Amino acid sequence: MPRRFQPLALACALIASLGLALEPLAAQSILRDAETEQLLRDMAAPLIEASELEPGHVELVLINDPSINAFVAGGQAIYVHTGLIEAAETAEEVQGVLAHELGHITAGHAVRTDERTRAATNISLLSLLLGIGAAIAGAGDAAMGVIAAGQQAAIGSFLSFNRDQEAATDLAGARYLSGAGISGRGMIRFFERLRGNEIRAGYSQADEAAYARTHPLTGDRIQVLRDLLEKDPAWDAPADAELQARFVRAKAKLFGYLAEPQRTLRTYPPSDTSVPARYARAYAYHKEARVDLALAEAEALLAAEPDNPWFLELKGQVLLESGRVREALAPLRRASELTRAHPLIAAMLGHALIATEDKANYAEAEQVLRASVQRDRYNPFAWYQLGVVYEARGDIPRARLASAEQQVMSRRYPEALQNAQAAEAYLPYGSPDWLRAQDIALEARAELERARNRR
Ligand SMILES: [Zn+2]
Repeated sequence: MPRRFQPLALACALIASLGLALEPLAAQSILRDAETEQLLRDMAAPLIEASELEPGHVELVLINDPSINAFVAGGQAIYVHTGLIEAAETAEEVQGVLAHELGHITAGHAVRTDERTRAATNISLLSLLLGIGAAIAGAGDAAMGVIAAGQQAAIGSFLSFNRDQEAATDLAGARYLSGAGISGRGMIRFFERLRGNEIRAGYSQADEAAYARTHPLTGDRIQVLRDLLEKDPAWDAPADAELQARFVRAKAKLFGYLAEPQRTLRTYPPSDTSVPARYARAYAYHKEARVDLALAEAEALLAAEPDNPWFLELKGQVLLESGRVREALAPLRRASELTRAHPLIAAMLGHALIATEDKANYAEAEQVLRASVQRDRYNPFAWYQLGVVYEARGDIPRARLASAEQQVMSRRYPEALQNAQAAEAYLPYGSPDWLRAQDIALEARAELERARNRR
């Protein structure tokens, strides 16, 4: 086995321990999962349309944090905590929260023109993501430091709205629900449960209070909102059954992925053979390296829905991460096909192809990873692997460019500058990669200068 793959294997064990490409080291980090991101986008789409914001410009970001919260930052991004997904019982409840958060965006509560604040926002998003890249590079502790700093800098200054802001935002949120034809029952129910501390056991009071602290939930406020929403024709509209089914699945998947396996098995006991229960258990078993049990759940899911890309992704992931790399290729290829090469799934396929350590697979690995980062730049794990495959194929300038991409995202500017300059010197003059190397060098240089001026 070529030695250079050892750090990769280690990093994969540490980092990609589950195919939600994610960052497990720090308490708070962005959690990326293709299925959940798609669900959040679909839940928000009609609301965004009703708000008259540009659909493609509103970002939805899942934060790995057990407290019940959602917030806006950086102009047009809504951050949703995994704790909120767990606490919500219906897709309508989450949509109620999304409608409210969109109200903060359209009211301009998330926009700060102050340069420093804007910089902090970027840091938060990118450094959270780049926890992954830094950890891969063997700097786990440094990665955590970056995450903590970014998080504090950005979020501390954005949260907590006053009551006037909340009242105006409620009106906007109610309007978007109405425009989208979504009942406000979910919004009211969720707010009432939060206010009454009725969320089920397993939450600390601090976790439960997070949303209420940042969006003060007074009884008056909920009453005004209820009066408004009850009059709306959409109040009695039936819930979207398909969206609800997808929500219950994504919720179970996140639970299985995040909770202690024993807790998952108590919540979703083996006697429960429903799809969500099997989904949750597959991740619980996988976390405990009980490969056969995890695969049995994945197979049962696939027996019911052979062309479900997320079930195929699950199977591929379990195989890949338990060392059965070659067997992982078929389900991952199929998942990639079915999702028209979703960047996160393509990145996992690229990872599997490299992990075969078969040179014959490197050309395909390069192709799928390139396509992945073209569609989704903010995946340092994909950049890292692209660097590995370039290096294995002797393409050193592009390997350095990929390192520079990963480093600039993790705010490791001196290294990013060095790699970008080296790449620029050897890449074909004027080519897109050459231009990109130049851009990264410029960005890194500007950041280094800014840091010098602050001192
Ligand atoms: Zn609010």
